[in-house]
Amino acid sequence: MGGPPGPVNPARAANRGSICGVSPVERHDLISPLERALVVVSHPDDAEFGAAATIAGLTSNGVRVDYVVTTDGSKGTEDPAVTPEQLSTTRVAEQRAAADILGVSEIVHLGYPDGYLTPSLDLRRDIVRQIRRFRPELVITQNPQRRLDHNPYIGHPDHLATGEATLSAVYPAARDHLNFPELWTEEKLEPWKVRQVLLTGVEKPNLWVDISETFETGLRAILAHESQVDPDTVGERVRERARLIGEPQGIGLAQAFASILLE
Ligand SMILES: [Zn+2]
Repeated sequence: MGGPPGPVNPARAANRGSICGVSPVERHDLISPLERALVVVSHPDDAEFGAAATIAGLTSNGVRVDYVVTTDGSKGTEDPAVTPEQLSTTRVAEQRAAADILGVSEIVHLGYPDGYLTPSLDLRRDIVRQIRRFRPELVITQNPQRRLDHNPYIGHPDHLATGEATLSAVYPAARDHLNFPELWTEEKLEPWKVRQVLLTGVEKPNLWVDISETFETGLRAILAHESQVDPDTVGERVRERARLIGEPQGIGLAQAFASILLE
């Protein structure tokens, strides 16, 4: 059989590479210049498991990184002797220790009850407030879509809620002064346009960060979450994951994200 096969469906072939005129997932890089990044996650340790080595790379390049943690982290234990209050206090301290290793500046704990988070307007407003305070060009947050391809991990409802509320905060609420007008009129927080969002935990990434140089720093930050990790196994698990993500891209160790450019 000679020659290239013809298109089976000409209309579909003409549309190849676009869906409703929108570009398919194309490979992105981090925006430049980049001065400030805000990481919005559900639990103390999500930022580190999702992006520790990437965050270490940002701060070592002079980017200011701040965190917003939406829940109080009061349920992440199987130890019946630990109260929710004790656990929350422990995890706030672990989050600060991990952030110090990564060079993260400020951590805002919104304090919503762990496990019960919904993408409410209150949560959206609270995230808008922090976006307008910190004025980040880049926001890193969690995938708002439940993945069913990750057996046996089916995702955490708080992660879905944080991702959804954060994307809704980025666009349009942080950008437009008539969204949550009290933030503008009473708190004097000016609207702010985020330029890029990175989502962790995605099925189809389009941005890969080479973390070969910052892997060890990232791992130390993960290990700071002493109440959450097994120090004997977590290192190998995290390294293997970074290797598997990087290998197809020709990168030694990588973290992968879905990147959305809002400009
Ligand atoms: Zn989490």
